[in-house]
Amino acid sequence: MEGTSLPSEAVYWPFKKYLGMYKRSIEDPEHFWAEEARKLDWFKTWDTVLEWDPPYARWFVGGKINACYQCVDRHVKTWRRSKVAIYWEGELGDSQVLSYSTLYRWVNKFASVLNNLGVSKGDKVVLYLPMVPELPIFMLACARIGAVHTVVFSGFSAQALADRINDTQARILVTADAGFRRGKYLELKNISDEALNLAPSIEKVVVTRRGNIPVNMKPGRDFWLHELLDDAVSYVPAEPVEATHPLYILYTSGTTGKPKGIVHGTGGYLVFTNSGYKWVFDVKEESVYWCTADVGWVTGHSSVVYGPLCHGAAIVLYEGAPDYPSVDRWWDIVEKYGVTIFYTSPTGIRMLMRYGEDVVKRHDLSSLELLGSVGEAINPEAWHWYYRVIGGERCPIVDTWWQTETGGTMISPTPGIELVPLKPGSATFPLPGVNADIVDESGKPVPAGEKGYLVIKSPWPGMLMGIHGDPQRYKDTYWSKFPGMFYTGDYAIRDKDGYFWLLGRADEVLKIAGHRIGTIEIEDAAVSHEAVVEAAVTSRPDPVKGEGVVIFATLQQGFEPSPELKNKLKQHIRSTLGPVATPDEIYFVSKLPKTRSGKIMRRVLKAVASGASIGDLTTLEDEASVDEVKRAFEELQKKV
Ligand code: ATP
Ligand code: MG
Repeated sequence: MEGTSLPSEAVYWPFKKYLGMYKRSIEDPEHFWAEEARKLDWFKTWDTVLEWDPPYARWFVGGKINACYQCVDRHVKTWRRSKVAIYWEGELGDSQVLSYSTLYRWVNKFASVLNNLGVSKGDKVVLYLPMVPELPIFMLACARIGAVHTVVFSGFSAQALADRINDTQARILVTADAGFRRGKYLELKNISDEALNLAPSIEKVVVTRRGNIPVNMKPGRDFWLHELLDDAVSYVPAEPVEATHPLYILYTSGTTGKPKGIVHGTGGYLVFTNSGYKWVFDVKEESVYWCTADVGWVTGHSSVVYGPLCHGAAIVLYEGAPDYPSVDRWWDIVEKYGVTIFYTSPTGIRMLMRYGEDVVKRHDLSSLELLGSVGEAINPEAWHWYYRVIGGERCPIVDTWWQTETGGTMISPTPGIELVPLKPGSATFPLPGVNADIVDESGKPVPAGEKGYLVIKSPWPGMLMGIHGDPQRYKDTYWSKFPGMFYTGDYAIRDKDGYFWLLGRADEVLKIAGHRIGTIEIEDAAVSHEAVVEAAVTSRPDPVKGEGVVIFATLQQGFEPSPELKNKLKQHIRSTLGPVATPDEIYFVSKLPKTRSGKIMRRVLKAVASGASIGDLTTLEDEASVDEVKRAFEELQKKV
């Protein structure tokens, strides 16, 4: 196993099943992935498993497949036709249950609507919809006819929508009159009208009703979905597309800079998503699975739509906010549908932790069997709360590390193969077929216990096909730092047992007095203090140490900012991590700058701290958070 990520067998020996599978997958990836690919229905089998022409990988070349067929048609040929596909819960408390046969019928009709508008294979369709059943149905309808979908999160502004339309040059936009968020209207059609002034490629707009608010409909351009459905036929054949045909373009969260339009293919993506979903979530026929991510993120693509539906799973789709109309809304939904697998983000968990345990205890969560986390490193504090309060100390937590670029989970416990002993805060081990390693600046693997850059040393089927319209950025971002290896941009460490720990973005690593410390390490130490709910770490230049630690923190209900608390927290971090990590400054704020997918934007803090330009803010959740940070820094400037 020379040159792979597998540590000594002594470490893994108790996990024989996982180890055996991992070894086979790395030693003979093509054979391994061909076996996995045979679990799907192909219209035509591939000629070549992998054509690797670095940095471009083409999987299952010559094969023909259809993503909608995998997710829907396959199931309606079996008893699953009467199985629940989607439990949809509206924010207002209204709900809908769709069986696989109902889903099949709608998907066909929506595909017919697209056909009638002139959409065909290879055309791009932008979906700017709230979390309503129409969203996954339109994704599947696009896939059915070989059209390429780009989902734009419904919380984005007109400018962010226009940017994505312009980048894809799509001709069709699908939106709604309005959606709901915390009881307020999200006026999607009005925002779309504004965006279309800036995005001239769109020729036709399909509008679905959700909010029932009056909107402007431009004759010849805008069409009501319910009217188009009158002319739709009930069956549209699923188009067999090449395995390398693009399935979707999806923009990254924009945590580290301007979002990238990630292109995913069909065959390789489906194989990777199908297998990974089973390994990570151990889904069973009777599972009720709820991933709280918005469909507008990659988690929503692979872990709300394509992964579970490939398996004929029953999914929950919730339209609204976690704390609306009351802070126990999520737990109410878990109880209502008997959710067995619950998958969310650390930011969601930390937000609900703030409200305490009593609101959770009002609900019967005994249906839960498995919990998951994604999006950021989960700090041990939040892990323990999630395990104890939500999981009742009986549900394993799968901490899944992956990116828009990877298409599916790369590092995570895999109870669907074998459950390894968990360590709170560690994503544990790479999935079979994922040749992950941690290397130093020169690209050499670092020994156990040493920090470095997380890389993937060989292609995997879910790997992105490129950045839309920007081959140079594709090469520069992922393939130029370490030739021949995919650079993830994340900083990590592997402990002596071979467990992977993600330490944050590589460009956010602090260099203090010659030590390299990941932002996550200091943040973990900060939130392990009882008063702190969330923390974001950045630095300011220091003439002696190189960099000095600056922390922004939000407080648990019942704690107030004070100089004493500041000192206590400084002491706490000092005693947890050692004197080198002692913060120079701590600021208590009411909210941290985050992306709309809930990730802390440390680059904003860094830019404010260093007086640099803040850069692309179109994915920022709340501008007030940046103002608060700016004010805090201005105070700091006055003092020094
Ligand atoms: P951009 O690439 O535009 O800066 P982004 O990286 O936040 O945005 P995503 O693809 O949505 O966009 O997020 C992937 C990143 O999220 C990973 O690179 C990693 O930093 C972080 N991440 C996701 N899951 C985990 C996890 N389980 N543990 C630690 N970090 C995670
Ligand atoms: Mg990224």
